[in-house]
Amino acid sequence: MKAAVYKAKQRLEVEEVATPTPGPGEVLVRVKYCGICGSDVHRFMHDMVRPGAVLGHEFCGVIEELGEGVEDWAVGDRVVGGGGNPPPGSAGGLSAEPRYTPRTLGLRASSARGAFAAYVVMPAWRALPIPDGVSDELAAIVEPCAVAMHAVRLSRLRLGDTVAILGGGPIGLLALQLARAAGAGRVFVSEPAPARRRAAEELGANRVLDPTALDVVSELVEETGGIGPDVVFDCAGARRTLHDSLEVVRREGQVVLVSLAWEEGYILPVEWVGREIEMKASYGSLPRDWQLSLDMMRRGLVRSEPLISAESIVPIEGIQEAFMGLMSPDEQVQILVRP
Ligand SMILES: [Zn+2]
Repeated sequence: MKAAVYKAKQRLEVEEVATPTPGPGEVLVRVKYCGICGSDVHRFMHDMVRPGAVLGHEFCGVIEELGEGVEDWAVGDRVVGGGGNPPPGSAGGLSAEPRYTPRTLGLRASSARGAFAAYVVMPAWRALPIPDGVSDELAAIVEPCAVAMHAVRLSRLRLGDTVAILGGGPIGLLALQLARAAGAGRVFVSEPAPARRRAAEELGANRVLDPTALDVVSELVEETGGIGPDVVFDCAGARRTLHDSLEVVRREGQVVLVSLAWEEGYILPVEWVGREIEMKASYGSLPRDWQLSLDMMRRGLVRSEPLISAESIVPIEGIQEAFMGLMSPDEQVQILVRP
């Protein structure tokens, strides 16, 4: 089968590799789409992958073969590649390693057998069924949707609250939809890339700001009558966005840090202390976030079309170019690789 193999810093090569066989308790999934995650781009950019590894954790597909003892699935079932409840006794969430951070121990999904490949093997319990009426394109973004779901559910967003989302990448655009579903009043998005700004507009943001053209902090303070938004989600992780989040949020408001920033940032603590801001971090997602995401997709509360155009879907042969482009996104919103 074809797979995009990580070779060296910023280099992927599509190669013919052996098709994996499912072991006991595993299933073989024929990959329909695998999304390129911001974290994949970071790994690629900063060389945080073992050579020979295959990345890709945001995927959907069809079960092709069942390993020994697998009874809950049938060949032909449509699945997303995560979100199932771990079997009793296996550690889940962040509890596995008490001092875990991506910086010291690497990102969790740096597995050697990812889904930028025609087939992938996974534990049968980990897959989730795709409900009828949820398209493959929508199912392919369940993982980023679960990350946004986790962040919105951890936030203290209340009915009618004003929300600012800094960063209109896939996570920010999904957070926009979920914040709305959670009852947010006005939602503002700040994003430098034009295609992402257009997507935010299509998804009904009240105002979309270009941080390269104006001062987002003063604009948002003005938009909110001199008060500032109630909740700010930092979905960008750019050098200034955490600082801007703390500066713009209302007194006693909440900042939720969702993005994984790999560079040192700038914070002025007096800004944080002086207005008694609450700071909350949100990392990744839990099975329940995936399950709720699929359910909201089934109910039509999350849309994929503004994030995924025909040009967003690239054949596996185009993966190197797609990664290069995503290092400084301009026209890209969400890229799905079709193996
Ligand atoms: Zn991801």
